[in-house]
Amino acid sequence: METTAPGSGDEPGLAFEAGELAARKAANARRVHTVQIPAIRAVGFVIVCLMVVLQAWREGTVLAPLQLALIGINLLYAALGWIALRIGWKRTGRLDLSLLLFHVDVLVWIANLHYLEKSNLFFAYLLLMRVADQVGFGFRRAFWFNHVAVVAYLVYALWLWTWEPAAVQWLERLAIAATMYVLGAYLSVTGLVIERLRNRMSIAVRSAREMVDSLEQASRAKSQFLAMVSHEIRTPMNGILGTTELLLTTGLQPDQHRYAKTAHRSAMALLALIDDVLDLSRIEARKLTLHPVAVDVGTLAAETVELMSFAGRDKPVTLSCSLPTALPAVVECDPVRVRQVLVNLLHNAIKFTERGTVALVVTLLADTPEAVRLRFRVEDTGIGIAADKLGLIFDAFTQVDGSSTRRHGGTGLGLAIVKQLVELMDGRLGVTSEPGVGSAFWVELDMKKSTATPAPAATTLSALPAEAAEPRGPLRAHVLLAEDDPVNQMVLHSMLVKLGCEVDIASDGAAAFRAAQEFRHDLIFMDLHMPVMDGHDAARQIRAWEREQGGYTPIVALTADALDGDRERCLQAGMNDVVTKPVSTAMLASVIERWTGHPTQPASPW
Ligand code: ADP
Repeated sequence: METTAPGSGDEPGLAFEAGELAARKAANARRVHTVQIPAIRAVGFVIVCLMVVLQAWREGTVLAPLQLALIGINLLYAALGWIALRIGWKRTGRLDLSLLLFHVDVLVWIANLHYLEKSNLFFAYLLLMRVADQVGFGFRRAFWFNHVAVVAYLVYALWLWTWEPAAVQWLERLAIAATMYVLGAYLSVTGLVIERLRNRMSIAVRSAREMVDSLEQASRAKSQFLAMVSHEIRTPMNGILGTTELLLTTGLQPDQHRYAKTAHRSAMALLALIDDVLDLSRIEARKLTLHPVAVDVGTLAAETVELMSFAGRDKPVTLSCSLPTALPAVVECDPVRVRQVLVNLLHNAIKFTERGTVALVVTLLADTPEAVRLRFRVEDTGIGIAADKLGLIFDAFTQVDGSSTRRHGGTGLGLAIVKQLVELMDGRLGVTSEPGVGSAFWVELDMKKSTATPAPAATTLSALPAEAAEPRGPLRAHVLLAEDDPVNQMVLHSMLVKLGCEVDIASDGAAAFRAAQEFRHDLIFMDLHMPVMDGHDAARQIRAWEREQGGYTPIVALTADALDGDRERCLQAGMNDVVTKPVSTAMLASVIERWTGHPTQPASPW
């Protein structure tokens, strides 16, 4: 059973965006006035020409110069009118060229009428054609042309009267003009119905557009709320994870150790959930942007499988990765997001497979000089998914086994995130599965080839910039910690002390600036949101002061802001690196070693 994730691929969507809508409207109007109306006009004049020919046939004359001239006038006028509209539509200022030609048509018809009515006065009704074809524009237009037609006919009769008084037959002509007027008025009324329908339609479209707008707003507000809440949760999570980590390094009795470890593991699970919610809401609020760089995609795939091997270490599951031999060395993609997709799929495959194999198979689907299309297929020999559930699993918070006794943990967000990320990358996603046999999830992505040097595969939001310090001897690093939250202060201070650092604490940005002036620290950890002066301003002031006084201290931002653009803002303020909360002792250790060159004291394992 195979299914493709709904929405993945290139389905056209309904466009309600104002700019696009206006552009479509303008293109439609142009098509109507420069193609459709001139074409219909041309057909009309060809019919009039046919009438002229038939009339000549009835009279038993071959096409005399007069008839040929009429045919020529009709066809030439239709062609010139078309050309004039193609060139001049919307270029004649306030003069509506299309409307003007509708009026001129009546004059050309009168010329035809003059010839045709010789045998039948009722050819006058030809003029009513104009009223009929204006009905689509509405009542007022049709009613106006009713007057134009009748007046044109009466003026023609007057003209005839001055030249051939005998041919006028006033009584009949007045009767025809009156009948034309009544019929024309009747035709115009049908324009009212069309107008009403059109109004209703535009009201319906407007309300649909307003509804979509408000739904989008509501959805954006929800996503922003979720992003804000999950971001705010990261700060207290730093306290919980940090204190349990510290607790675990104290001399606990076995029971206490087990409880603390469970608390730590639960906090980690909560953090994973928060990260998922944050990711999903950022994608939905369109705040997540891709950062394509040159990547060695083969290494990325192999490293991701290796990274996941720890997840399957407790079960008889073999993990493997197969790459095509012709895989191009370097392609352009966002490695963080491609890895996130693969990690989610591999994580599920391992989670739902008790024994057997989990394999990542990369296939080259298309290869041009500029780009490749790759298929990443994650196959497992796990429990599989029932056919009727395949269409649902890509929805957020959906799990096949939703019962309270389900065996496997999870939130039902993983595949929703995968689907959104694949859509963001303009890729395709699908699954084949058979219960009891296994599943295979596949993702197809187009990637441009690149000649640039590939970024290290482990590039992440908090990847370290270059120019870290040279390794140095085992000196105690003197660290300034700028952090306003008392719990985080306590946690980070204890962690740093455990790592053998000498720590100064500042509770706001201004105090951090003062402390930085007083001592030459080896490293500054800078929280971003602080009272009095925030971390960005404090970093800027420290850098300005250093430019005057000399010296340079690396500054590492400590932030719960895992959002796009935050890292760039920190670097612009003069900071060297960004560490996202919650932080562990191990993370602090590697940052200190990188930026001071001092090895830290090894944290005790727990
Ligand atoms: P989670 O795994 O956190 O529950 P996902 O969105 O990643 O959430 O997956 C949704 C559901 O799809 C899972 O709960 C599971 O029922 C099903 N599923 C996903 N991957 C697999 C797989 N490899 N084998 C069997 N079932 C799977």
